[in-house]
Parts: sequence; C-alpha cells; structure tokens
Amino acid sequence: MTKPLIHGLSRLELEEACKGMAIPAYRAGQIWAWLYGQRVAAWTDMKNLPASLREGLAGRFEIVPVTLLKIEGAHESTRKILVGLRDGECVEEVLIPARDRKTVCVSSQIGCRFACVFCASGKSGCVRSLEAGEIVGQVLLAWREFVDRPSNIVFMGMGEPFDNYDAVLKAVRILNDPDGITIGARHITISTSGVVPGIERLAGEGLQVELSVSLHAPENELRSRLMPVNRRYPLADLLTACRKFATATNRIITFEYTLIRGVNDSRQQAQALAKLLKPIPSRVNLIPLSPVKGFDGQAPVPETGVMFIDILARSGINATLRVSKGTGIDAACGQLRMRSRKVIHEN
Ligand code: SAH
Repeated sequence: MTKPLIHGLSRLELEEACKGMAIPAYRAGQIWAWLYGQRVAAWTDMKNLPASLREGLAGRFEIVPVTLLKIEGAHESTRKILVGLRDGECVEEVLIPARDRKTVCVSSQIGCRFACVFCASGKSGCVRSLEAGEIVGQVLLAWREFVDRPSNIVFMGMGEPFDNYDAVLKAVRILNDPDGITIGARHITISTSGVVPGIERLAGEGLQVELSVSLHAPENELRSRLMPVNRRYPLADLLTACRKFATATNRIITFEYTLIRGVNDSRQQAQALAKLLKPIPSRVNLIPLSPVKGFDGQAPVPETGVMFIDILARSGINATLRVSKGTGIDAACGQLRMRSRKVIHEN
C-alpha cells in the first residue's frame, strides 16, 4: 500500500497524526516549518528532529509528492512543466512570471471528464482526481523553479476543480496557512466550467478566494455545443449561482471567454454577453483560442478583442484580452500531456 503524502495533511491533521504517534505537539509545528518554510525534500533534512522520529515519519508518510519530468520554455518567460505522479501518471503546470507577480497554473485532475470541444484536457477523459498533496506539490515545484515564492495560484490547468472539490479546497487551505506557504486567498483563483453546486458550496466557505467562470458563449444552444456541462447547468442557473456568490462573498467574478473565429466572436454575441453579465459584478477575460488538435476552430482576427472590450465597457464591464504567452509551448491545458503520451505511445 502506498503511504499517504505528508503534504496532503492540513495543519490540524498533522497535529492529530503526531498525537497518534505519541509525538509532542510542538513537533508538528517543526515539521510544518520544514515542509513549507524550508521546503525540504528528505526526512533526513529535518535536523532538529530526533533520528527515531524521522524514521517513524518516513515509515508512515511520503515526502516527495510530485517530480519534475520535463520543463519547456525559457527562464523569465512562460514555462510549462510536465509533473510526474507516484502512480506513473502525469499532469501539467504552467509558470507565468510577470513584472509584479509569479503565477502558477496548477492542475486538479489527470485529464477531465467535461469534454469542452476546444480543450485538450478533455480529449481522453479523466484518469483520476489529484490528491490535495499533489496540488500542493505542484506549488512547491513551481517555487523551486521560480526560485521565489509564487505570488498567485490559478486552478486553470488540467481538470475541473469542482469535480474534485474536497481536495482542491484542502489544498487551498494548506496554501493559505499563515505559517506555511502563506498565499493569500485573494491570490488564489478557482476556475470552473460552470459546475453550479461547486459555486454554491464555495460561496459558503468563508474564504476570499477568487472565482473564475468559463463562459465562452452568451446563449444556451451554442454553449451546450461547446461545453456539454451547459446541458446539466444551463446559463440561467449558472448566472443565478454567480450572482449569489458575488453577493455572499462581495467578490467580483471573472468570466473567461475564449474567442473562436466565426463561432462566438460576432458583434451580436458581444452585445448578448454584455447584456447577460450586466446584472453581475463581473469582469471579462477574453482569450484568443489556442489551436488544439482535434478541434478545427481558429483564433479570432486581431480586431475582435478590441470590439468586445468596447461593447462590454459600454455596459460598465471591464474586459481584458489575454496576450497568448504560451502558444510556442502548447500552453493550452492538456496539450503537453497529450504530446508526451503520443511520444510514449510511438516509442
Ligand atoms: N475546468 C476549468 C479549469 C481549466 S481550463 C474551467 O473550465 O474553467 C482553464 C481555461 O482555459 C478555461 O477557461 C478553458 O475554457 C480555457 N481553454 C481550454 N482550452 C483552450 C484553448 N484551446 N484555447 C483557449 N482557451 C482554452
């Protein structure tokens, strides 16, 4: 049987585990500091613990949550990491440095079962959900590669975070711990394809986490075609949940809108989007489609972004166009894993 990941334990669970092993409570604080202050990767590095205690912990817990299999992209630019997991599977994470922030885009599942037509992650279904420790492990890996502590975490890698709600929330609380990695909740963004029960649950957590909703279409027929999740949670239900979330948390919601030429990028669709979002405290993040194998959609012509921004602005909605930073390294989620599997199959 594989040992549980030590990075998957909340602070309280670590204290409980110590109690169960008859270890004095203050040791839990020391272990936490080694894990998240010093970020050691070996039990033997925990110098102020007696050897017998280190051996006891090593027998009970795994201390290496994830490994770096491959890294693409140059230093100081967007880089993509293929992250190895203990069962031989892999996920992707993306490191996005900017002048004032160092953002890590983490995965929450191996693959995804939501099958949005333009997304590489959903092309071969979901293998499994990640454990909290595997999510925390991605952030520690990013810290090592960035050299500095990541400033922002976005759950926009592979998977649907609300299809793995408990592990994602546990990871958020571990990342947010004031004696640990200390990433403020406002610097953590959970992005959902529109899983209404997840939005409702998150609204009641008492956390100041940012919510991002992938919208991609202003009406049901098109949205259901692009994102099958819309058949289960149509726009009216989704937007009601969003409005309640905004009221309960006093947060502005970010709506992601991937622009696909001739599909969802017309002036009328921009106007419909503005009308739909007007009642909700919202901002819009426009993303030009990143080409994906298996989907023949194209990125919009360059003027489209400005047209959307203008129309949304007239309804008082702030919109930004994401500059595609990762095209050269297949940064749309799931692409690197798809390619690495192909290589594995071809060999
Ligand atoms: N499942 C979650 C988080 C992962 S996807 C969600 O749907 O929000 C992160 C964002 O990238 C989503 O907005 C998704 O729709 C978008 N995306 C996926 N594939 C893309 C592509 N080929 N081009 C542009 N954006 C893409």
